[in-house]
Amino acid sequence: MKVVVCGAGIAGLALAERLDAAGAEVVVLEKAPAPRPGGYMIDFFGPGYDAAEAAGVLPRILELGYRIEEVAYCDASGRRRAGLRLGRFARAAGGRLVSVTRPDLERALRERLSARVDVRFARTIARVDNGAAGVRVTVDDGAVLDADLLVGCDGIHSAVRALVFGPQDRYLRYLGLHTAAFSFDDPAVHAAVDGRFCMTDTPHRAMGFYGLRDGRVAAFTVHRAPDPALPADAAAALRREYGTLGWIAPRALEACPPSGEVYYDQVAQVVAPAWSRGRVALLGDAAYAVSLLAGQGASLAVAGAYVLAEQLARSASVDAALAAYESALRPVVLDRQEAGRRGARWFLPATRTRLRLRRAALALAGLPLADRLAATAIAGKPSALVTELAAGRPDRRGGLFPTT
Ligand SMILES: Cc1cc2nc3c(=O)[nH]c(=O)nc-3n(C[C@H](O)[C@H](O)[C@H](O)COP(=O)(O)OP(=O)(O)OC[C@H]3O[C@@H](n4cnc5c(N)ncnc54)[C@H](O)[C@@H]3O)c2cc1C
Repeated sequence: MKVVVCGAGIAGLALAERLDAAGAEVVVLEKAPAPRPGGYMIDFFGPGYDAAEAAGVLPRILELGYRIEEVAYCDASGRRRAGLRLGRFARAAGGRLVSVTRPDLERALRERLSARVDVRFARTIARVDNGAAGVRVTVDDGAVLDADLLVGCDGIHSAVRALVFGPQDRYLRYLGLHTAAFSFDDPAVHAAVDGRFCMTDTPHRAMGFYGLRDGRVAAFTVHRAPDPALPADAAAALRREYGTLGWIAPRALEACPPSGEVYYDQVAQVVAPAWSRGRVALLGDAAYAVSLLAGQGASLAVAGAYVLAEQLARSASVDAALAAYESALRPVVLDRQEAGRRGARWFLPATRTRLRLRRAALALAGLPLADRLAATAIAGKPSALVTELAAGRPDRRGGLFPTT
């Protein structure tokens, strides 16, 4: 079986590894010229954690990851006003939570790829001819790839989705926020953050900081914006939007790299009535972005890759595998998308009153008995999405790949 994967992000790399391990021939097309270095801190737990463990990549993720004890909300003078004890939440979740930067998570997944996987950087899809028995992909360098399946793993603005399923607007649910991330060198800010994930305790707009192992600081921003259109100059927009925040924000903005090195996007969910059409499927944010408000997009990308690869390995036809993948994953995604939308007003309070309410709620969440409740609120309903498949692994005969 031959599969073309569009996008070498978290979903694309996880899928390529699983498909290759199952005996498929895999070509990955990535539009960036090289692995993307910029990124933000990801809390990695839930079904993606289970999938990473089943796929054997978890030890490397844990090695590259961080154990963050606390998310501290600090005022304009740097005083801690409230906090979320992430360490206690992690323990309530059985210790199965690690914080890892997006580039490091991609690195762990990329390192697992065998030399058989044909990864082509600086390439994208120019044309798709989707048939009942196969798909023809024309790459932007003129190469033509005939495959059994094309999987769009190319993020919320997926080109595969636009080519095969229709215009972007139809699938994007804008959540009224813009977000950005960048990293910078500043020993004084690194020391001020001091092993915590620090967020400004501010309404309408907030910045977050984490000191990385290499001495750099990862910064993250989120602000309310009625218009989903992105600014032409991201760095200038950040200086404009966050210039009035106190504490370490001005130093971070001063050190902000040029726009090309800043991650900047709208916060949105992807709502697609179907995740496949003919021999083209969607995976990860391209199919079902839950947004940073839900905090499990990376986890669901890795879990979805695991489920799709396993279904292709077990099912008698591509159609059956795609249907099984979607029906297993969709309920989990809907649950997470709803939780993300519900949590929006607490994630970034719109008023000072709501900010004070959040402080009070966080103080209550600090009580010992609240740990399990907080774990469920953040992680959602426990799901056996991956563990059941992993437990039944030997049962793969009769699938679309040669047995391994
Ligand atoms: C600030 C922030 C914080 C977050 N925090 C968390 C968290 O704590 N926990 C969590 O689980 N998730 C979190 N997420 C969500 C998570 O990052 C995403 O859900 C995840 O990255 C989705 O992975 P993906 O591979 O589907 O898409 P992406 O990461 O968007 O990767 C898509 C890939 O496709 C490539 N590509 C795009 N277009 C094309 C094209 N036309 N042709 C070829 N290649 C293309 C891109 O260059 C990229 O490599 C957060 C997101 C943000 C923005």
